[in-house]
Amino acid sequence: MRILLVGAPGSGKGTQAELLSSALGLEHISSGDLLRGHVARETAIGRSVQEFVRRGDLVPDSIVMDMLRKPVVEAADSGGYILDGFPRTVQQAQAAYDTARTLGVQVQVAVHLDVPEEELVRRLLARGRGADDTEDVIRHRQRVYQEQTTPMLGYYSDREELITVDGTRSPEQVHATILEQLEKVRPRLEGTEA
Ligand code: AMP
Repeated sequence: MRILLVGAPGSGKGTQAELLSSALGLEHISSGDLLRGHVARETAIGRSVQEFVRRGDLVPDSIVMDMLRKPVVEAADSGGYILDGFPRTVQQAQAAYDTARTLGVQVQVAVHLDVPEEELVRRLLARGRGADDTEDVIRHRQRVYQEQTTPMLGYYSDREELITVDGTRSPEQVHATILEQLEKVRPRLEGTEA
């Protein structure tokens, strides 16, 4: 199965991606983790993206697309993936679809973790991970999500590929609900393997 997880910062997206990856035996590919890895290793990609990542702004599409092409194709070939953090704009979703479709590795279902903004900010402030997590940066990341990522939900719902799950409950409850919803759509996905 090829799944995209969509959720604001603080929605529990990373946790759910890990749970789904173990439950379904799918590769978890996180664009944010990969980018942070490049920044930490001070690679050429890392140096070109570090200011964007620090501010909570999106990095240029071409960098993310080039970085993800190989892992996505490899994961698709070995049973499937959970994409976490990419695509995150309508433009990225369209570009990714155009590239992936020819290879038969496009997203089959998008899972949206729905959490109200005040709850997100509360969670992120409570997490308090140091200088990056000032309230200003937290609110900026939420704004970027609202402005640039939420329109992408329409892209997937128009294609009837969107599942929305209430993300305010416990991680175990959210995970169980996602699995239930995925089971419902699985028969339809089997017909769209290629
Ligand atoms: P995340 O951990 O998914 O919140 O990503 C952390 C940061 O990496 C984001 O704030 C962006 O700066 C960058 N990033 C991750 N995924 C993307 C993407 N698909 N497009 C552009 N920038 C991204």
